[in-house]
Amino acid sequence: MTTASAPTGVASFHDILRIAGCRHHFPLLRQLVNGKPLVYFDNAATSQKPQVVIDAMVRYYETENSNIHRGVHYLSERATQAYEGVRTKVRDFMHAEDQREIVFVRGATEAINLVAHSFGRRYVHAGDEILVSEMEHHSNIVPWQILCEELGATLKVIPMNDRGELLVEEYERLLSEKTKIVAVTHVSNALGTVNPIKELVARAHARGIPVLVDGAQAVPHIRVDVQDLDCDFYAFSAHKMFGPTGVGVLYGKRKWLEEMPPYQGGGDMIKSVTFEKTTYNDLPYKFEAGTPNIGGGIGLGAAIDYLHEIDLNAIQQLEHDLLFYATEKILTIPGVRIIGTAQQKAGVLSFTMQGIHPHDIGPILDLEGVAIRTGHHCAQPVMKHFGVPATARASFALYNTKEEVDAFIKALHKVIEVLG
Ligand code: PLP
Repeated sequence: MTTASAPTGVASFHDILRIAGCRHHFPLLRQLVNGKPLVYFDNAATSQKPQVVIDAMVRYYETENSNIHRGVHYLSERATQAYEGVRTKVRDFMHAEDQREIVFVRGATEAINLVAHSFGRRYVHAGDEILVSEMEHHSNIVPWQILCEELGATLKVIPMNDRGELLVEEYERLLSEKTKIVAVTHVSNALGTVNPIKELVARAHARGIPVLVDGAQAVPHIRVDVQDLDCDFYAFSAHKMFGPTGVGVLYGKRKWLEEMPPYQGGGDMIKSVTFEKTTYNDLPYKFEAGTPNIGGGIGLGAAIDYLHEIDLNAIQQLEHDLLFYATEKILTIPGVRIIGTAQQKAGVLSFTMQGIHPHDIGPILDLEGVAIRTGHHCAQPVMKHFGVPATARASFALYNTKEEVDAFIKALHKVIEVLG
């Protein structure tokens, strides 16, 4: 986590050195793009993968590949052990109480859809309300909207101020006996805002309302402790935290997961099937129909090991300094407006340039080897709030450096030369 206001001093010098040396763990970063050293600032979309993650997946396919849970042979047992071992790693990574609370899914999007469908079908009725925030990614808006349309419930929105911070008093006002669930992001992908999740959860719980946290942008930057946050659900994707695409996690408190109906039907989620009646498997398998992304799960386990090795506290410190540095530098460029100036920010610098459409910034930066993202970042309500069609977004990860920020700033000057 970082603020754009001033650097702090949490991690030790030793930790910082360990991270500074980690760039060479990422083979993709060694290439030239358009003849220039690649500056990869599109980490909020997806992060690059360290060699250990790539190797773990290759090793799995070379030596262990087999289907899990049902096999009675050597390879199947090894694959099952490896895959279930990752569940234990995820439990420890999130500090969940019980590994039955860890459901493997395709990613944050599927995790949220799972809760919307399953929790929604059990607990939401016509006339009820679901509370999301103005800064949500579409994947934490649309599943709830679909549910509301189906059931005749209403989607309510927690507003934010012009720095991109949620209005907590407004949130309090919106909570009522009609509210069946609050679904809110930990870190905004469009603004970088880090939300006060613990406080939001405490206020909802004071009224007996459960809270789902979209942690897609938090897990690569912040140490997440679901017991400390006391959230009821927590969703994330492996690919944004140095793991592979196609795998992610839904954490859910057991008391909810036990009560909730299955999300999808199929193999592995059942105990017995007859045409008259099917009984469902125990947690977490009740929510894991079909053959999962086993190789992806192995990659997620390797990514968690990697993050342990590097130390998330040190990552926070490094990214904090980088964001502070980039923020100071970009503000020296005439006509730049930063979108998202919250006190608490992590890893994201969204901006516009006067008289230049954000979509035109990306291609010029690309010619300089700098990869950023331009667009609405799947957060159109955020764009509406700030009265812009889109923003340019640089997003940072543990392997980025101040030299790369300098190259990015130089490339922005090129944009002005060409288009300004
Ligand atoms: N939530 C947030 C805040 C995101 O930034 C993203 C992706 O950018 C998602 C959810 C969806 O993640 P995925 O596409 O990996 O399911």
